Amino acid sequence: MTIFKLCMLTGLALISSMGAAAQAVTPVQTMLGDAPSVPKNIVIMIGDGMGPAYTSAYRYYKDNPDTQEIEQTVFDRLLVGTSSTYPARVSGYVTDSAASATALATGVKSYNGAISVDINKQPVPTIMEKAKLLGLATGVAVTSQINHATPAAFLSHNESRKNYDELALSYLGTDTDVMLGGGQRYFPANLIEKFEAKGYQYLADFNQLNTVTKGKVIGLFADVQLPWAIDDQGSHKLSIMTAKALELLSQNDQGFVLLVEGSLIDWAGHNNDIATAMGEMEEFANAIEVVEQYIRKNNDTLMVVTADHNTGGLSIGANGEYKWDTSIIRGVQASPDVIAKDALIDGDWLTRVTLNLGFEPNEDEQSQLTLARMQGKEVMTTAIKQLIDSRSNTGWTTVGHTGVDVQVFATGPAASLFAGYQDNTDIANKLMSLLPKVKSQPNK
Ligand SMILES: [Zn+2]
Repeated sequence: MTIFKLCMLTGLALISSMGAAAQAVTPVQTMLGDAPSVPKNIVIMIGDGMGPAYTSAYRYYKDNPDTQEIEQTVFDRLLVGTSSTYPARVSGYVTDSAASATALATGVKSYNGAISVDINKQPVPTIMEKAKLLGLATGVAVTSQINHATPAAFLSHNESRKNYDELALSYLGTDTDVMLGGGQRYFPANLIEKFEAKGYQYLADFNQLNTVTKGKVIGLFADVQLPWAIDDQGSHKLSIMTAKALELLSQNDQGFVLLVEGSLIDWAGHNNDIATAMGEMEEFANAIEVVEQYIRKNNDTLMVVTADHNTGGLSIGANGEYKWDTSIIRGVQASPDVIAKDALIDGDWLTRVTLNLGFEPNEDEQSQLTLARMQGKEVMTTAIKQLIDSRSNTGWTTVGHTGVDVQVFATGPAASLFAGYQDNTDIANKLMSLLPKVKSQPNK
């Protein structure tokens, strides 16, 4: 309680002296001794759609049922505060990823769909642009296409998140050092040539990533988004991209700002797909641990983790029953998408479904699946998701977003600034206050 209060006071003192940056912050004690009070490097990590139910669900999903205690996760370990996510008035209380990323990247609220423009569609400076002007390196590592709403709001400006081609083209002018994720579809050969002319190394094959030893680099490893983690087990793509981004960006003596996004947590949430969502949570949690390890060795680096909003209205337990059966979810071997596709192949489809699900459907469930299978892949996918939900007792309230507050996790210098309740715009303003002071720059 006292520590919490102290954090709050430190936070308030710093916010009131914003702009004058962070001399007031108490040094952070780490295993390496006193860390600097102001970070040299900032890592912003966003679990897209990762509302509080997701981090709780992940705790139980990861729990070892053979021990008495319920083990803490990286989220439990790093929790410091909460954040509201509402967009500009004109869009009500429930945000989309674009408005929320705009708030997190610029400190300004805007309408749903906005990519770092204000409600009058005027561009607002982003933390990445400010960092660039100060000589810092910048990068993004995401599991969606790199021109999807969240990374786009950190790197660019547009009146609509849907203008994917314009956003891709605009990245040419951003001077971003490292861009890793998906999105080959939006970067045709003639555009890639322009990146290469600017000194970028282009990668289309994920295995090439470990051969890169310095920036600039643009790596697009899928047509649109990367594969679901549950269908790509053991490859840990987000962790590898995060580690590579840290390695490349840390070569800049002035410091860096890196955005890492677990983009597909949201996509699984929209699909109301608990098994896939937990796979994406694990992927994101592992990437957070990569950064946590980096900070153990580099105590001049601040990591702030949050979500942009909640997706799907996930509920741990449903239908009036006090139970949530994670063994069902842990047993699922592939995404419902893949399970359904596999089930449409002729032959002993039920055996294949049973193997992929990790449990044997009972007679009722089997006849439901048989009926669904006759109606094609989409209906079959839905039937599989519903079967996993009913067996595990997972609930959902929407295929969209909800307006619940999200959590904030932080470690490293000035992490205490993020304690307690804040708004998503506060997170951006605090982070920007921690950038180095402008020295004889003609304009900000
Ligand atoms: Zn979403």
